[in-house]
Amino acid sequence: MKVLVPIKQVIDANVRPRVKADGTGVDLANVKLSINPFCEIAVEEAIRLKEKGKASEIVVVSIGPAKAQEIIRSAYALGADRGLFVETEERVEPLAVAKVLQAIIAAEQPGLVILGKQAIDDDSNQTGQMLAGLLGWPQATFASKLEVDGDRATVTREVDGGLETLALTLPAIVTTDLRLNNPRYPTLPNIMKAKKKAIDVKKPEDFGIDITPRLKVLKVSEPPARKPGIKVASAEELVKDLKAAGVL
Ligand code: AMP
Repeated sequence: MKVLVPIKQVIDANVRPRVKADGTGVDLANVKLSINPFCEIAVEEAIRLKEKGKASEIVVVSIGPAKAQEIIRSAYALGADRGLFVETEERVEPLAVAKVLQAIIAAEQPGLVILGKQAIDDDSNQTGQMLAGLLGWPQATFASKLEVDGDRATVTREVDGGLETLALTLPAIVTTDLRLNNPRYPTLPNIMKAKKKAIDVKKPEDFGIDITPRLKVLKVSEPPARKPGIKVASAEELVKDLKAAGVL
């Protein structure tokens, strides 16, 4: 079974994002960019399926500006077999990504697609769901456990009240939650090997897909500064203050 893993390059999770002075977006100049943490978990899960003999090939796909090709190499260093990069300098929204992925899936015919539950730049949490809708495939989002047996997958997912277990018929879409696994670190020899591996580069036009944004960003602003907290001397004082603030 072939596993397709869509991955996105985002501002590194340890970097504090800064809004551009003109309020048009987040400043990405000279900022460390990395593979989205949920996508890294998706790559790790695909590798574990391959190690268990459940997957035969791992294909990673990314859509983004030329610089984002780096994350295909990061995925190679972890263990991905083949990478497809769709280059565009245009801002890509989840629906456009889902349409490009739909076209790639039609050609690649994977048995399973594992995406991150969300990309930590826009926090959209939409692409996997939209892709499942476009394909008419079963989906299990926010997976914390994934088991594959023949043409069936069992997914435990994190929901508000606890855990839910779903049985899916493959091909299907799964999106990863934080507790699915702990991604491995790449080894130095694998990082070196990854540098030499070929990447198949395409453009959105090659798939006949119009990726023109449908959403208009009106303004991006910093969150309001939080007021400093206060220390109370006792539980009684806390209750009194909460009552005075109308919370209790
Ligand atoms: P989002 O819906 O933007 O929060 O992203 C959810 C997941 O969709 C990500 O974790 C990726 O697996 C996939 N994805 C989103 N944008 C892209 C992109 N530009 N290229 C490849 N995969 C993407």
